[in-house]
Amino acid sequence: MSSLNQKTLKNSVEIEGIGLHSGKNVKLLIKPSEPDTGIVFKRVDLKNNNLILPNFLNVTNTSLNTTISNEAGVKVSTIEHLMGALFCLGIDNALIEINNEEVPILDGSAIEFVDKLLVAGLKTSNKAIKIIKINKKIEIQEDEKNISIEPSKLSLDIDFEISFKDDFIKTQKNKINVYSDDLKDILNSRTFCLYEDIEKIKKMGLAKGGSLRNAIVVKDNGIVNEGGLRNSKEFVNHKILDCIGDLYTSGYRIIGKINCSQGGHYLTNKILRKLFSDNKNFSIKEIKERNLPNTIIDKSILRSIA
Ligand SMILES: [Zn+2]
Repeated sequence: MSSLNQKTLKNSVEIEGIGLHSGKNVKLLIKPSEPDTGIVFKRVDLKNNNLILPNFLNVTNTSLNTTISNEAGVKVSTIEHLMGALFCLGIDNALIEINNEEVPILDGSAIEFVDKLLVAGLKTSNKAIKIIKINKKIEIQEDEKNISIEPSKLSLDIDFEISFKDDFIKTQKNKINVYSDDLKDILNSRTFCLYEDIEKIKKMGLAKGGSLRNAIVVKDNGIVNEGGLRNSKEFVNHKILDCIGDLYTSGYRIIGKINCSQGGHYLTNKILRKLFSDNKNFSIKEIKERNLPNTIIDKSILRSIA
């Protein structure tokens, strides 16, 4: 069957851990679902109004995480790394049952989600994948931050730059082609913070579950975590992972080119809102092998991780 058809999981997968911001223990059960149903979150600790769609219009908080809420105000937070894993593995449809308000942070990256999803296996349907093709360049500039999305032929290119005053992080830049590059360093890269910001973040009521097991802490021109960085561009690579996860709130995979400097959850959500505010900016297409010469999901991604 064509690898360009929609995929779901072969088997359900259970994942358990602590919420980074809530500090609460949480269980996920990610289940296979039907073609054209997309990714759906279900709060199984609640009886009513418990479905939440990870759609950019449902994003209600972008402060140090991406939170989605439904019309009843029922929410799920820190969805971005799981969404990034689902995007990179080419999983189009899945029902994510969750028994609390925050997706577990695991090791702070997407790699544990990826490993477990691969163990569950993927199942290909007989329905073609739909993609979003960008027709027109859209840009947002806010102070020193900017993001743009523009047409590309067949790829999703993400060119990301971060610039910190901190001497250890400084400026990092990376550019990837999501559908053909080896994504191991992206999926493996952990969330991070500066040691001096921890108190401020905790005062905001966030990071109650934060520890060196799930975040890199930068201090005194190095990192506090034992074992050092997982790759030389781990900071910017994590921001690329966040960007991929947040882009998946568009509902489909995207063919386009993103340029971002100093952005994050807020700016990615803002550009999606701007992009979809005018239907001349994009088209949604079904893809078939005959009109797409290369595969949108390169099998080497799976090979390199598995
Ligand atoms: Zn993140």
